[in-house]
Amino acid sequence: MEMIQEGINTLIKLQKIDAGIYKLKEKKACKPAQKQTLKEAFAREEQALKDKGNSLKSLQLARKEREIDMETKEKEIKKYQTQLLQIKTNKEYLSLQKEIGGLKADNAVLEDDILESMEKIDKVKAEIAEEKEKLAAEEKKLKEEIGKIDREIRGIDERISSLDKERSQLCSNVEKALLARYERILKAKQGLALVPLVGESCGGCHRVLPPQVINEVRMKDKIITCGFCARLLYWPE
Ligand SMILES: [Zn+2]
Repeated sequence: MEMIQEGINTLIKLQKIDAGIYKLKEKKACKPAQKQTLKEAFAREEQALKDKGNSLKSLQLARKEREIDMETKEKEIKKYQTQLLQIKTNKEYLSLQKEIGGLKADNAVLEDDILESMEKIDKVKAEIAEEKEKLAAEEKKLKEEIGKIDREIRGIDERISSLDKERSQLCSNVEKALLARYERILKAKQGLALVPLVGESCGGCHRVLPPQVINEVRMKDKIITCGFCARLLYWPE
C-alpha cells in the first residue's frame, strides 16, 4: 500500500511537470504560424508597392507614346504647311487647311492628356516614395518581431529541457510498468494522465464515478483508472 502511494505521489509531481511540458510545446507549436502571418502581411505590402511601380511604368510608357504621336502629327502639320505654299486651286487649299486643322485639334487633345498623365505620374511617384519609406520601417519591425518570436522559441526550448531533466530524475523513482502505463495515457490524453477525484467525479473527464470506484481510490492500495476516460485517479489530500 505504501509502495502504491509513493508511486502515485511521484506521479503527481511528474504530472505537474508533464502538464507544463505539454503547455510549452503547444505554445511553441503556434510560433511558426505567427511568423508566417507576419511575413505574409509584409509580402502583401511589398507586392502592393511593386504593383504601384508597374502602374507608374505603364503611365510613363503611355505618356511617351502620346509624345511620339504628337511629334509625328507636328511633323505632318509642318509638311502640309509647306505644301500649302505651292497649292494652285482653292479646293486643294481648303482641303489641306482642313487636314491641318484636324491634326491641330488632335494635338490639343494629346497635349491635355499628356499634362493630365504628368500630374498622375507625379502623384504616383510621391505615393511610391512614401510607401517605400513606410515599407522600410515595416521591414525593420518585421525583423524585430521575428527575432522576438525566435527568442521566445529558444526560451521555451530551454524551459522544456530543464523540465525534461527534472522529469527524468523523477522517472527513475517510478516502477517501470506503472511509468509505461502513465506515459501511454499521457500521450493518448494530450498531457493529462493522472487526475484527482473532484467530489464524486473524475478530474479529467468530469464524469460522475460509481461509489465503488471512489472507495477504491480512497483505499490507495491499487492503481484505479476512470472507466470513462481511462486516466489514472488519485485521492486528493
Ligand atoms: Zn475520466
